[in-house]
Amino acid sequence: MSKNKSSESVKVVVRCRPLSRKEESNGPAGGIVQMDLRLGQVILKNPRAPPSEPQKTFTFDAVYDSSSKQRDLYDESVRPLIDSVLAGFNGTIFAYGQTGTGKTYTMQGLWLDPEKQGVIPNAFDHIFTHISRSQSDKQYLVRASYLEIYLEEIRDLLDPNHGNTRGLELRESPETGVYVQDLTSCVCKSIKEIEEVMNVGNQARAVGATDMNEHSSRSHALFLITVECSQPGPDGRKHIRVGRLNLVDLAGSERQAKTGVQGDRLKEAAKINLSLSALGNVISALADGRSSHVPYRDSKLTRLLQDSLGGNAKTVMVATLGPAPQHYDETLTTLRYANRAKNIQNQPRVNEDPKDALLREFQKEIARLRAQLNHRRFRSKQKKEQVDGEAWERDGDEEEEVEEEEVEKEAEEFVKLEEQRLEKENEAIREDQFLLAEEKQKLLGENEKMMGDLRKRQEATEQLTARYKAMESKLLVGGKNIIDHTNEQQKMLEMKRQEIAEQTRREREMQQQMLIQDEEAVELRETFTSLQQEVEAKTKKLKKLYAKLQCTKAEIKDVNDEHVRSRQELEQTQNELTRELKFKYLIIENFIPPEEKNKIMNRLMFDPEEDEWKFKPLVPDESKSSQMKKRPVSAVGYKRPISQYARVALSMGTHSRYRAENVMLLELDMTPPNTSALTDGEQNQSPTLNNFPTNDKGICKSRSWCQSQKSITSSSSNNSLTFN
Ligand code: ADP
Ligand code: MG
Repeated sequence: MSKNKSSESVKVVVRCRPLSRKEESNGPAGGIVQMDLRLGQVILKNPRAPPSEPQKTFTFDAVYDSSSKQRDLYDESVRPLIDSVLAGFNGTIFAYGQTGTGKTYTMQGLWLDPEKQGVIPNAFDHIFTHISRSQSDKQYLVRASYLEIYLEEIRDLLDPNHGNTRGLELRESPETGVYVQDLTSCVCKSIKEIEEVMNVGNQARAVGATDMNEHSSRSHALFLITVECSQPGPDGRKHIRVGRLNLVDLAGSERQAKTGVQGDRLKEAAKINLSLSALGNVISALADGRSSHVPYRDSKLTRLLQDSLGGNAKTVMVATLGPAPQHYDETLTTLRYANRAKNIQNQPRVNEDPKDALLREFQKEIARLRAQLNHRRFRSKQKKEQVDGEAWERDGDEEEEVEEEEVEKEAEEFVKLEEQRLEKENEAIREDQFLLAEEKQKLLGENEKMMGDLRKRQEATEQLTARYKAMESKLLVGGKNIIDHTNEQQKMLEMKRQEIAEQTRREREMQQQMLIQDEEAVELRETFTSLQQEVEAKTKKLKKLYAKLQCTKAEIKDVNDEHVRSRQELEQTQNELTRELKFKYLIIENFIPPEEKNKIMNRLMFDPEEDEWKFKPLVPDESKSSQMKKRPVSAVGYKRPISQYARVALSMGTHSRYRAENVMLLELDMTPPNTSALTDGEQNQSPTLNNFPTNDKGICKSRSWCQSQKSITSSSSNNSLTFN
């Protein structure tokens, strides 16, 4: 299954948006972010620090400043990834950053302006254009799903009922890795269709949210595209490659204030960023390279992205920044985060012939329907030829070879001819004067039946054809299906643009390499012509190293501060949780009886999948059916089981007290009393005992305690109260 075992690191690119109008008007002039596009460097200025403090520099695979175009980012950093997906790799692009820094702008952009369309619309265009331009021996199946993770619940945005149902569950399979169970997936045949899917999902997102901005800053949106491609291999068999693309717009990375929140609100606050902080931990653990445990299972998001981070996928992370000085801390955190992610190593490989490829099932189903259809038409054709008097000498194997369209036409003709023949026969029968009326009726009836059969067969064939055509239309064939509007010139232009993007990328890599080598080379140049020159060179070197030292010191201080801050936050959360816990203990100790508490404790169990405590069922599942009895018949229509006498009394409306009558029919213990003295003495006092109706097992049925002796005997014959 694997083609390429080499590992590659996560590509990290950084994008900074322009200053917004509001920021321009109320902040100090200029931004705090500078970018060196040629070197792929971000230089961050601390607005609060003295000017002597060195600026912080980070290097990435690519950087995009406020004047960058959507298309530049796509061509340079995303296009190669989508090409890989089309070749059968898994790919992920996720946008990470503070709210309002341009994650959604980068991922979706402005749909109506072709210049400002983001990664997702460009990817749609890319995928379907690629399919239309590929060779005609390739078949494709494209599917899309859309989900969001909100408060640690997965919601299917394409399911109209997603608001009413519980969140979806995650499952794991050795073939596909982690997947969402029961997630809607739509087969898409064109850009228009996949855009429609995106729109439906976006609307579902907006409808569920009272405040879209607030909602999108707290939820993660994942758009998933699966591209399956089948192509005949050198062995003559069709091979299927499956590429999965995850397009992820993450929640805002700013810290949500947790202070002073209690109870449910605390739980909610803890959940809001759980996925994001878990993502941070996963990235740290992977980048560190030394930790043996990567906490993927800590959140839904990290489980879903398990393959994208350190697994079988190619990944691009777009970290978005804002240039405003007031967000310096957040910007620095984002850059640190992105810097760490660079060190993650993935092991992407082509997914070839996976067992669960839907395309294979589609192909099988289409082949089955075609065979069925051909068989039907073939039979009709055969009959026609028999009717026509043509000799039929070909054998059954030739069924497949007969031209499909020809067979279809002939089959239709046959049906038409058959109908005409039957019609003629009917007329002949009607006009025949030698036949008795009865016989005529019989013959006409038979013909009618034959006609009916013929029509039914025809209808079945039509249905089969419709199903076959519907199935077949879902598959996209290379070079067909989609009309390619672009002309040769445009194609050339695109190719040139790709080449330029590739060139820029390579140039940047080389520049970065040179920079590293330059630093190393400083130590090697040891020969100097004069003392003066040596002093100069060494001073320069000293200055450089001193600046580096200062940077590192500042970095250490920053990291320490950050650790202290996050520790304080954790301690605070812990204190709040302890307080909450003590409060609950107090209630339990004082208000819940110990035996009840024990019962509850014995039934509790922890579900690690759902990350919550659950009650074990009272009755084990397997014995449920035998133990759970039906409600007694006597209870049907009433709130509770009710005695026959009370029912009669109730219907007569005579006695108001029987309205509430609901004495159940119970089985009595009929073992005779074993105190002999009592038996003799009380014989007279309980004369009715023998009069009780007994069933086969010698068990007596009870009746209303308020019934008199007389009424007992009268109702006893009317023994209709039974359990079943
Ligand atoms: P996020 O999704 O990160 O919360 P948005 O994508 O909604 O942020 O962006 C916030 C605002 O900034 C939007 O009005 C968007 O149009 C604008 N914006 C973001 N990035 C850019 C950019 N690179 N160029 C121009 N405008 C941008
Ligand atoms: Mg957004």
